[in-house]
Amino acid sequence: MADQLGPALAQPLFNRLTIIGLGLIGSSLARIAKHKGIAQSLIACDSSPSVLARVKELGIADEIIAEPEKAVEQADLVILCVPVGANGPLAQKIGPHLKKGAIVSDVGSVKASVIAKVVPYLPEGVHLIPAHPVAGTEFSGPDAGFATLFVNRWCIITPAPNSPTNAIENVKSLWLAAGSNVEIMTAEHHDLVLAITSHLPHLIAFNIVGTAAALEEGTKSEVIKFSAGGFRDFTRIAASDPTMWRDVFLNNKDAVLEMLGRFNADLQSLEAMIRKDDGEGLFQLFTRTRAIRRSIIEIGQETQKADFGRSDMNVQK
Ligand code: NAP
Repeated sequence: MADQLGPALAQPLFNRLTIIGLGLIGSSLARIAKHKGIAQSLIACDSSPSVLARVKELGIADEIIAEPEKAVEQADLVILCVPVGANGPLAQKIGPHLKKGAIVSDVGSVKASVIAKVVPYLPEGVHLIPAHPVAGTEFSGPDAGFATLFVNRWCIITPAPNSPTNAIENVKSLWLAAGSNVEIMTAEHHDLVLAITSHLPHLIAFNIVGTAAALEEGTKSEVIKFSAGGFRDFTRIAASDPTMWRDVFLNNKDAVLEMLGRFNADLQSLEAMIRKDDGEGLFQLFTRTRAIRRSIIEIGQETQKADFGRSDMNVQK
């Protein structure tokens, strides 16, 4: 693991770093922050007492403070690692307690709506620099996290046009230290790209597994017993956290609906090909989609192994 993470930083990037929400993403960030010495002092805050107790046992924070208002006092950087829908109410709580010059960031899978809901609560002199590490698994909670989660994964930062360069650079430095590659784009562009690469695939998985489960119930068939590889891959995605994904769809409505419209049109043309015995059309499409998987493997964002290489990732805690 140490090989993948590299040595500790020569000096911390931040004096006081507060992470709110120590689930999969927040606890992974805490682990890498401790390992690399990203902050002089790392404060963990979560609404769940059992999560905080576990964080203490794991020893992945220097201080544990249950009240968000207290946890953010004197912090140079506060990172919100909670479900997308929780960011607005949390910003309202912490806003008055942030020091001048502090940076607030997040890790939400949707950006424009988070910005709209957080910005109104931040006092003057506090900068919001949103980020989205495009890395994750279907697991949740502090035990699901691991320090190498972000290595060689993209982190997309979506600052406002008037965000101070040094605040953007500070957040960028943190993600580079975590092993990520960093890209900067607008929140709107992020939401459109992620709608097709992440949100729609999850929607399809939730739908197909839901349909199969209903079929199983209705016909007492053996859909689950004889689940083939294709179906099992969908069940992995469909096992993702219900709260997180409810919030993603409710907060990226327009982009998801736009991509769903395109998807439905393409599905209809696929249906027509089957109906018309258009073997050539089907073959051409499947050849193109196979090439896309190959190119994702070539750029190192996926492995050749079955099971999406996930079984390897889970032992790298
Ligand atoms: P998670 O494992 O469920 O962790 C979220 C943690 O935040 C939980 O401990 C939760 O406590 C706590 N929490 C919820 N509301 C809170 C509040 N108001 N104040 C303080 N703590 C609160 O979720 P996750 O997978 O890490 O996701 C966190 C964020 O990362 C989401 O915005 C998601 O969109 C984003 N993200 C996720 C992935 C992924 O693959 N999972 C990838 C990239 C980005 P309770 O359990 O008690 O509610």
